[in-house]
Amino acid sequence: MSNMPKETDVILIGAGVMSATLGSLLKELAPNWDITAFEKLDKAGEESSNEWNNAGTGHSALCELNYTSEKQDGSIDISKAVKINEQFQLSRQFWSYLVNSNLIHNPQDFIMPLPHMSFVRGEKNVTFLKKRFAALSKNPLFHGMEFSDAPEKLKEWIPLIMEGRTSNEPIAATKVDSGTDVNFGALTRKLFDHLESNNVEVNYKHSVEDIQRTSDGKWEVKVHDNVNGKIEYHTSRFVFVGGGGGSLSLLQKTGIPESKHVGGFPVSGQFMVCNNPEVVAQHQAKVYGKAKVGAPPMSVPHLDTRYIENKKSLLFGPFAGFSPKFLKTGSMLDLVNSVKPNNLVTMLAAGTKEMPLTKYLIEQVMLSKEKRMEEIREFIPNAKSEDWDLVVAGQRVQIIKDTEGGGKGTLQFGTEVITSTDGSIAALLGASPGASTAAHVMLEVIEKCFPQYLKEWEPKIKEMIPSYGVSLVENPELFREIHASIVEALDLNEKKLAHS
Ligand SMILES: Cc1cc2nc3c(=O)[nH]c(=O)nc-3n(C[C@H](O)[C@H](O)[C@H](O)COP(=O)(O)OP(=O)(O)OC[C@H]3O[C@@H](n4cnc5c(N)ncnc54)[C@H](O)[C@@H]3O)c2cc1C
Repeated sequence: MSNMPKETDVILIGAGVMSATLGSLLKELAPNWDITAFEKLDKAGEESSNEWNNAGTGHSALCELNYTSEKQDGSIDISKAVKINEQFQLSRQFWSYLVNSNLIHNPQDFIMPLPHMSFVRGEKNVTFLKKRFAALSKNPLFHGMEFSDAPEKLKEWIPLIMEGRTSNEPIAATKVDSGTDVNFGALTRKLFDHLESNNVEVNYKHSVEDIQRTSDGKWEVKVHDNVNGKIEYHTSRFVFVGGGGGSLSLLQKTGIPESKHVGGFPVSGQFMVCNNPEVVAQHQAKVYGKAKVGAPPMSVPHLDTRYIENKKSLLFGPFAGFSPKFLKTGSMLDLVNSVKPNNLVTMLAAGTKEMPLTKYLIEQVMLSKEKRMEEIREFIPNAKSEDWDLVVAGQRVQIIKDTEGGGKGTLQFGTEVITSTDGSIAALLGASPGASTAAHVMLEVIEKCFPQYLKEWEPKIKEMIPSYGVSLVENPELFREIHASIVEALDLNEKKLAHS
């Protein structure tokens, strides 16, 4: 590569919520470090982090039924729900710190209070929900959860869903008023604005094409300037690959052993958006149902009030779909190009194992508008076709790897931070629970890649995120204190709901 690369302390690849979060954390922990970011598009937060490309749920397991499973003995396992809720609390504390420190402003642009509800039909599901409620409502993190199977109460909570519901089948819902709708696109843009005004060089329309080790153990990044077509080289002692769906191919280029035997499987998302303001006005919650048998966990149907472009909207979905692209703005060859000699067996094994999923996704792509309306009508019996339009959301690239439990080519639904043994490079693969847990995941990157600074940084981390290293579920008093200060900082007073 070139003899004249530009040198920097940290390179962030991609301007999504993950790079934004890592950059903002590092700016506070090591203010003198030079940080340079490269983004192939012309703005921050245009891929999965964009408000139209994800569901905007502040995932805290208040309503997502797939985070609580029923055990063999019929009891409910809440461990995953508690873990995800604790992780979301870290993000909320970090955002509060940024607002209180005047580093970002107007939290209502990116986070709004919104009840989170679970809604089920049929006796078996109602029994499950009742047990889930009994298990969670005792837990301090799920304080305030209500349950009802009384139609009159449900009409109060979800009038749009109850209107025109004639069947006698049992139905029930839970509701937690302290849920949130998060505009991750607006948040990402705010964080990148903050970084840019604090000497972070953010290069838009710059695509990273290659990453190679230098002889002195640093990394040299080859960047294509998409405007003038020139190639630039930049070196750094630490690189974060935050390319979303683009991360796998960049990781593969590093050649680190940790990049081997890993593959990706893209699952695309689509939402139906309501274009009738009268219908939009009748709903005020995120209402999650149960996934259909055989459907992947990320396609749990939900009917969501959203705040996008300072306007209240109503979205239903996601419908899963299949496209071989790894980014919405990616190439049809992404999937094929991700197959390398070292992951060929893993990918082939996954291909055989995941035939039913592929078939399901292709069927989802082929759904006619009327078929999609039928799914909406399971939530809104009176929904009219002319009130709903289709919007294409983002791509999620699920990790495929060989695991002890699942064998060769096992599809993973979580996120994974992959780092080199010396901690000089980290990449984030996978997409769930996603943006909500950005602070938790980026703290993991910091712990893995900068262990030598942790002792020095810990007081600052605790100033930004008071519950860092502490279990909130085991310290309910601390949780109450932190929750109250978050509500104040992020302006999440539930009374606001009445006026929205
Ligand atoms: C349908 C759907 C629904 C979702 N719902 C939720 C939800 O409700 N709640 C939640 O918390 N999460 C949700 N998620 C997940 C969440 O959106 C993602 O986890 C999160 O946005 C990922 O952020 P990121 O920064 O890793 O990636 P991205 O936001 O995708 O950013 C990656 C950036 O890297 C850039 N890039 C890629 N390759 C290169 C390159 N070679 N050179 C330069 N730049 C590059 C891209 O252009 C992009 O801007 C959802 C995702 C989808 C798809």
